[in-house]
Amino acid sequence: MSAPYVDLKEQFIRIFGSGGRLHIIRAPGRVNLIGEHTDYNDGFVCPMAIEPQVLVACRAREDGKVRLASTVFSDSIVEFSVQEKIRRGEPAWANYGRGVAAELLGAGIPLCGMEALYTNNLPVGGGLSSSAAIEVSTAFCFLTLVGQTMDPMRLALICQRAEHEFSQVPCGIMDQMIVSTAQAGKATLFDCRALTKQYVSIDPKDLRVVICNSMVKHELTGSAYAERRRQCEDGVAFFQKEYPSIRALRDVTCRQIESAAGKLDEVILRRCRHIVGENARCVEAGQALDQQRYERVGELMVQSHQSLRDDYQVSCPELDFLAAEAMNVRGVYGARMTGGGFGGCIVALCQPRSVEMLTGHLRETYKQKYGIEPGIFATTATAGASVLE
Ligand code: ADP
Ligand code: MG
Repeated sequence: MSAPYVDLKEQFIRIFGSGGRLHIIRAPGRVNLIGEHTDYNDGFVCPMAIEPQVLVACRAREDGKVRLASTVFSDSIVEFSVQEKIRRGEPAWANYGRGVAAELLGAGIPLCGMEALYTNNLPVGGGLSSSAAIEVSTAFCFLTLVGQTMDPMRLALICQRAEHEFSQVPCGIMDQMIVSTAQAGKATLFDCRALTKQYVSIDPKDLRVVICNSMVKHELTGSAYAERRRQCEDGVAFFQKEYPSIRALRDVTCRQIESAAGKLDEVILRRCRHIVGENARCVEAGQALDQQRYERVGELMVQSHQSLRDDYQVSCPELDFLAAEAMNVRGVYGARMTGGGFGGCIVALCQPRSVEMLTGHLRETYKQKYGIEPGIFATTATAGASVLE
């Protein structure tokens, strides 16, 4: 058997030179099966870690210097020191590493310097959270080199802060949580308010998850996201007047939504209806998954897509097309857009024997309709980040 990670190690030595003990760390990407736009409404999400991942080779340095290189951004080595105040800077990709180092130090973890080389087979900027994979893998590198471990949820929160402070992305906790805490063969039903989780079985004997990237990225994403968040806040303000205990759309019931018709602005009402319905669908889907009621999970995924398309209005024709075509293949339980919307990926849940048919069908029909080759792969649910060597 050939030694593992030979290419990565050779590349590392070409860049940083030989000697010392090398460690290899992995951190997976993630996909959200259901529960979309619910995270910032104190609601529920149901993500799982996927097979594509970030791999990092790292080695300790005695002088406190951190030197980072990436096969994706191969033009430079980024350097900073854990013995001086760490600041944001160029290139942007290294701010994840800077941020994680700064937040670990801020949390009272003494760090040594290091050299690290990142590689990906996870698409970068494709909505599968390469950013959280970079953060969590970096944290694992630093901790491994000083011989420490950390509670995975605490580590996720540190990584989230790094993304807020150093990359200035006001992300929720879902991505870092799942990349750090996922278990193989499980999805995670996560309560974004209580930060509690329940692992639900997604057995590779029964199920595959197929992810198809529309390759579309609409300009709207940023502004529409901010607008949706505002609309949700407007909805909370409306319901709070009548029910003072409501703190977030998480606390609103289906009945309260129904009785708001005619009193609440029509658009705000639709946005609220999506969130309230999506929370209920997410919790039910988590339970149904665990009980192997896959048809029901599929129905809920399809309803989720319709709600995102019609009420939350964050889909686009390409995603609608892919989600609908997926449902034309035998053995597919459900399909929906996943991620923020206006492009990006769909996620489908299917029987293992349907994978080939499904990927072939999506590729052909999408190419025919839009002239674009979509990015498609199938995956099982993998474990969160780990030290491989
Ligand atoms: P997503 O998380 O959906 O992949 P983001 O825009 O949140 O998209 O994060 C992508 C960013 O993460 C990249 O622009 C880069 O800064 C960083 N990143 C991801 N993978 C790598 C890598 N292998 N090496 C260096 N930086 C990476
Ligand atoms: Mg990201």
